[in-house]
Amino acid sequence: MNFAEHTAQNGVVYLTAPTIARRHAFTTRIGGVSTGDQAGLNLSVNKDPVFAHVAENYRRLGEATGIDTGHMARTKQVHGAVVRTVTGADAHVLGTPVPYEADGLVTNEPGLALICYTADCVPVLLCDDRSGVIAAVHCGWRSSVADILGVALDAMCALGALPATTAAAIGPAISRCCFEVGGEVVEAVDAYLGGDSAGLYAPAEGREGKYFLDLKAANARRLTQLGVPADAIAVSDDCTFCLPDKYWSHRYTHGRRGNQGALISL
Ligand SMILES: [Zn+2]
Repeated sequence: MNFAEHTAQNGVVYLTAPTIARRHAFTTRIGGVSTGDQAGLNLSVNKDPVFAHVAENYRRLGEATGIDTGHMARTKQVHGAVVRTVTGADAHVLGTPVPYEADGLVTNEPGLALICYTADCVPVLLCDDRSGVIAAVHCGWRSSVADILGVALDAMCALGALPATTAAAIGPAISRCCFEVGGEVVEAVDAYLGGDSAGLYAPAEGREGKYFLDLKAANARRLTQLGVPADAIAVSDDCTFCLPDKYWSHRYTHGRRGNQGALISL
């Protein structure tokens, strides 16, 4: 299932997934006002020397997508497996310190937007349309193998969601073509999938001990293990490393970059 790409009247380019019934967006670099290494639609205040540029990027993003980017929960991402269930009391004012660390957010509150930031890591949006419960999850390899998707689904189920009626969108991220990892990473992926890792990685030719890993597909496989129907999981083909004009890639830029975001709201 292919993602749809939208170009808003104000120039903001974003993607949506066919599986997610509620308002959502995976952003690109295109359509923002930031400059320098953050040129484009950078959504991270702490990566941008000009706060006003980021504020304007959020305004444009809200205008383009209809998501209320002024009423949003954010978190300080730390590559762990903590998922926080949030309400309107957690709505974060852009430019103020984020009061907690987590790599996933869950809510059932209409109008409160959730966001996770990425620049190679895998962004995953989850949505149980039936019960009205959503999640935004930052799935780098460390969070993935710590089973953050299992933690997020548990948090969603505590609000009345069911895996069988949950849909998922796995967004643009560094893909198998470019995601070279060491043996300890593929071992951790194999362990977290209970050994069901066939086809997810292959040795990097001529580079002993290195592998190319499909972390998007690993996360999709974990979701099916958790009970999310395979036909309710959409996976973006876009590789952040292969498309440096469209997305930020931490590896491609050697860390001199902004952040794109994955957003969802009820
Ligand atoms: Zn690539």
